[in-house]
Amino acid sequence: MEIPDYPNISEWAVPFYIVTMLVELGIGWFTGRVRYETRDTLASLVMGGGSLLAGALTAGAIGTVSLWLYEHRLFTFGFEPWWIVLAFVLDDLRYYWVHRFGHEIRWLWAAHIVHHSSQHYNLSTALRQTWTSFFALWWVVRLPLVFLGLHPAVLAFCGGINLVYQYWIHTEAIRRFPPWFEAIMNTPSHHRVHHATNPRYLDANYAGTFIVWDRLFGTFVPEDDAEPCRYGIVKSLGTFNPLRIALHEWVGIARDATGLSLRQRLGYLIGPPGWSHDGSRKTSADLKREHLRRHPEEAGKPGRPEVA
Ligand SMILES: [Zn+2]
Ligand SMILES: [Zn+2]
Repeated sequence: MEIPDYPNISEWAVPFYIVTMLVELGIGWFTGRVRYETRDTLASLVMGGGSLLAGALTAGAIGTVSLWLYEHRLFTFGFEPWWIVLAFVLDDLRYYWVHRFGHEIRWLWAAHIVHHSSQHYNLSTALRQTWTSFFALWWVVRLPLVFLGLHPAVLAFCGGINLVYQYWIHTEAIRRFPPWFEAIMNTPSHHRVHHATNPRYLDANYAGTFIVWDRLFGTFVPEDDAEPCRYGIVKSLGTFNPLRIALHEWVGIARDATGLSLRQRLGYLIGPPGWSHDGSRKTSADLKREHLRRHPEEAGKPGRPEVA
C-alpha cells in the first residue's frame, strides 16, 4: 500500500496568513471595524511559531504510537478521495469533542486557554496556539480513528486543513454569510461567540469546520447583534509574555493542588475550570446561573440555562 506524500498544510499556509493579516489590517484602517494591538499580535505570532515547533518536536512520538496502533486496525480504508472526505468529517467530529473537553476539563484547558487569552479578535488571534497540547493529550482522542482504520497521515492532512479553515473565521471584518452557509459551516459570527466571555456566550460553539455538531449536541448559541462579544478569558491574563501565556494555567494547577487531599487535587486536575475545593471560585455554569438570576427575563433564550 503506497502512502501519498501529503503536504503539511499549516506550514504551507504561512504566506496566506501574512497576506490576509495585512488585508485585514487595511480593512481595519479604513473601516475601524478591526482592532489590532501591536504587543498582542506579536505575542500571538510568537505563540503560533512556538506551537509549530512544539508540533515538530512531538510529531515523532505521536507518529510512532499512531503507526503502531494502525498495524492493529479493525478495517482498512484506502487513500481514495471519498475516504479522505469521510476522514475529514470524522476528524471534525473528533475535534468538536476534544475542543469541548478542552473547555470542560482543567487539565486540557491548561493547554487550550492560550488560544483564548487575547482580548482581541482578529486573524492573528487564530495563530495564538498552545505549546503544550502534547501534555494535555489532545492527540490521544484521534487514536480511535486510527484504530478504526484511517491512516495517521490522512488524519494529519485532514487536521491541517481543519486548522487552516479555522484560521480565516477569526475576524470581525465579516459579519454574516447567507443563512444556508451559517447553518452548516463554522463562521466568523459563530466563532466570535466561542471567544466571548459574556455569560450567555460561555461554553458554546466548539465546532472546527462544521457547526452542525454544536446544533446536534446542544451547544450552539447564535451571535446576538444586540449583545456584542467581549473577548478573552473570564479572569484576564494581563501579560504579553509568551512564556507566561504558555504556562500560566499549568502553574496555576500546581499551586492550587499543593497541600490538598487526593480527591481535592483530582478536582483541580479534571474538574471544570473555576472549580475550587472550598467553593470560592466560579465555573462558567455558575456565571451563567448568576447572570440569569439577575436577568430572569432571559430564561429559555439560546445560551441561557433554563433553571436559575
Ligand atoms: Zn476554545
Ligand atoms: Zn478560535
